[in-house]
Amino acid sequence: MPAIRGLGHVGQVLNVRKATASIGWLLTLIGVVLPWSARAAGAAPVTGTIILVAAGVLAVVLGVSLRTPQPAVWLWSGLAGVPAAVSAVLSSTAATGNGTELARDAAHLATQAVFVTLLAGLARRRLRTDLSSVVPDALIVGLGAWTVLWVVLLQPAMPASGSMAGATAVRGVALALLSVVLFLVATTLFADSSPSPSLLAGLAAVLLCGTGLVLQLVDARDGTALAPGVIAATFQSAGWLAIAMVVHPTSRSLLIPAVRRSTPPLLTRLVATTASMGAPIVLLAVTDPADTADRVVRTASVSVLAVAVMVRVVQSARANARTQENLLRNAQTDPLTGLPNRAAMLDLVTSAAERAWGTPRQPTVLFIDVDRFKTINDSLGHSAGDTVLLEVAGRLLAAVPRHAHVGRISGDEFVVLDPATETATQAAVLAERVLDSLREPVGVSGGDMFVSASIGVAMAVRGLGLSADEVLRHADTAMYRAKAAGRNCIAFFDDSMVETVTHRLDIETALHRALERNELHLVHQPIVDTDLGAVVGFEALMRWDRGAGSGGTVSPAEFIPVAEETGTIVPLGSWALLDSLTQLRRWIDSGVCPAGTSVSVNVSARQLHDPGFVAVVTEALSRSGVSPDQLWLEVTESVMITEPEQTLVALRNLNSAGVRVAVDDFGTGYSSLSLLQRFPIQRIKVDRTFVHALSLAPASQSIVRTIIAMAEALGADVVAEGVETPEQMAILRSLSCTKAQGYLISHPVTADAVPNAVLAIEDTSWRS
Ligand code: C2E
Ligand code: CA
Ligand code: CA
Repeated sequence: MPAIRGLGHVGQVLNVRKATASIGWLLTLIGVVLPWSARAAGAAPVTGTIILVAAGVLAVVLGVSLRTPQPAVWLWSGLAGVPAAVSAVLSSTAATGNGTELARDAAHLATQAVFVTLLAGLARRRLRTDLSSVVPDALIVGLGAWTVLWVVLLQPAMPASGSMAGATAVRGVALALLSVVLFLVATTLFADSSPSPSLLAGLAAVLLCGTGLVLQLVDARDGTALAPGVIAATFQSAGWLAIAMVVHPTSRSLLIPAVRRSTPPLLTRLVATTASMGAPIVLLAVTDPADTADRVVRTASVSVLAVAVMVRVVQSARANARTQENLLRNAQTDPLTGLPNRAAMLDLVTSAAERAWGTPRQPTVLFIDVDRFKTINDSLGHSAGDTVLLEVAGRLLAAVPRHAHVGRISGDEFVVLDPATETATQAAVLAERVLDSLREPVGVSGGDMFVSASIGVAMAVRGLGLSADEVLRHADTAMYRAKAAGRNCIAFFDDSMVETVTHRLDIETALHRALERNELHLVHQPIVDTDLGAVVGFEALMRWDRGAGSGGTVSPAEFIPVAEETGTIVPLGSWALLDSLTQLRRWIDSGVCPAGTSVSVNVSARQLHDPGFVAVVTEALSRSGVSPDQLWLEVTESVMITEPEQTLVALRNLNSAGVRVAVDDFGTGYSSLSLLQRFPIQRIKVDRTFVHALSLAPASQSIVRTIIAMAEALGADVVAEGVETPEQMAILRSLSCTKAQGYLISHPVTADAVPNAVLAIEDTSWRS
């Protein structure tokens, strides 16, 4: 039962956490109380120290067996613990003499040095910046503190004989290091969003250590004597807190980078460094040097401090300049390719146009869009996409003349600017060269791949005063024309493109509101059976009446492609389904046509890919009360090619419910016989181009004959579309195609005009 064991493990970890946390707090309490009460009780300081060292060893054993802190924390605590223990033992022994003093102070120094390294690492991790900015600040604080300590404590403690100079100097350096330690701890503390108990205990330990050091110096001064045992108790408290720091479970997080705060502790550092510079200056100004040695130390200290400050100032000025430069560069270049970005290219176009003024030059702008880049990205992944973009960037750079510029202005869009072209021919040559450069396959991790691009060309034509933005937009417009023309080609910008684009945009926006504004209606074109001489169905065709003011009726050939591209076709198509079925119901009920009459509705690929399509059809059928076998869905061959599986599922579902499927515009698409066989098809509509050619080209008769034979083989019936002349009709009948639709029989008519149209058809004028 691994799950239960897993839970047990989690529980165990939680228990250990709780236990070590309590021990940590207990140790803190001991550290605060024990040394001082022991001193008050008159116990020998050395006893306390021995207990402390024993506790430290115990903590190590406990921690190792429970694996609480990180190995790195152990390592550093060990490194600091040994000299700390030595100095604690030495401070608490009654033994005096120069040797002991020096050893003790050396141990203090070693402890401080380890602390500095440990804390610098800690600060670095938690600040998430590199040490180079922390170190100079810490140095300034250390030097400032050193100067103050020298003047106030160290120099007065120097014995005249100089016999103790060594020990005192060591002590001084230890004190100076202590100020660095304090600074680092403070910085670390302020860098953390919520300082952990472990960190707080550590800070307290270091503070107490420093206090101990200062007290020792005060004690050494002539005329001041501290109560016995105070210094030892201070160090012992520090020791207990240090153990508490390591034992507490939060010590694990000491070396983990802290969550970045939105405001870095810059103010803390500023205050600390300023105080460290200010205090020595004030102190040196108000006190006089005691002797030559003092004067030398003072001068040296202040000089080094000045150098440190200078370094810091230079460093921060440099960093500022670098940031500024980076900002500027980032604002002008594309991070992936390092090419100029959109803003930079616009600047370049502007200056190229300005410089061409008064010369025969007309700068050329190429707008290059990698074909099907989204497919590459989606199918091969983003890193393959990046490889392709980098390769394209390289090829473009190699293809254009040296004086030309290449930029990447967004995802898969590049721009080339040649400021030196004079004629359209030169622009075309440039575009050809660029298109050519992409012909070789690009190697990506999955193998070689062919990349093509659509290129739009625009020129900053002399005398037109076009802005850079306009020229770029023109090239963009031309690029769309190139894409529409089948990709992998070049298109030149001309003014008519602006009209086309504006017009399309207008349709796109107006179409969104067409349905709710009741601007759409259906017209119905009768489908007849020539043998029976009767109307067997109607094809519903959409019309959009935008009103007299805004363009009148728009043909579906114009708005259906836009509706398909924008997805508006989904609601429009649902409406057409319901409306045509409702209409049919009315005609049957009022006796305009027989009960078995059908209605054909055109369906776009986009609708079939919509997951709700089957439900939309069944709902329309049940609301209108028309039987499913009276509905024909007309789909083009292209529908079967894009996402055939999804389409197949939808059509099969509807088919099994009784709805029938017709292939529209048959013969103009690219469907294969095997595809046709897989789809449930009950009707084939012969495209009107074949019907049109019937009486003109004898070959088209054999095509239509083949289509009819194929339909028979698939078990489908045939409808001829676009029948306009009696000859076409006669030939179709001779080929035994008995269902037809076209202007000869009837134009598509509005719902109101249907009864009359049906009557006219039954007049049989179209039969010959
Ligand atoms: P389609 O499905 O091939 O529709 C037949 C088109 O041929 C209609 O054009 C019709 O008016 C026209 N037509 C009919 N008889 C003749 C004729 O004898 N000679 C000639 N030259 N043309 C004839 P329309 O109404 O402009 O529709 C164009 C296309 O728009 C349709 O082609 C169809 O693909 C699409 N469409 C129309 N309504 C809808 C709809 O509700 N939904 C969808 N998805 N597409 C629709
Ligand atoms: Ca149709
Ligand atoms: Ca058609």
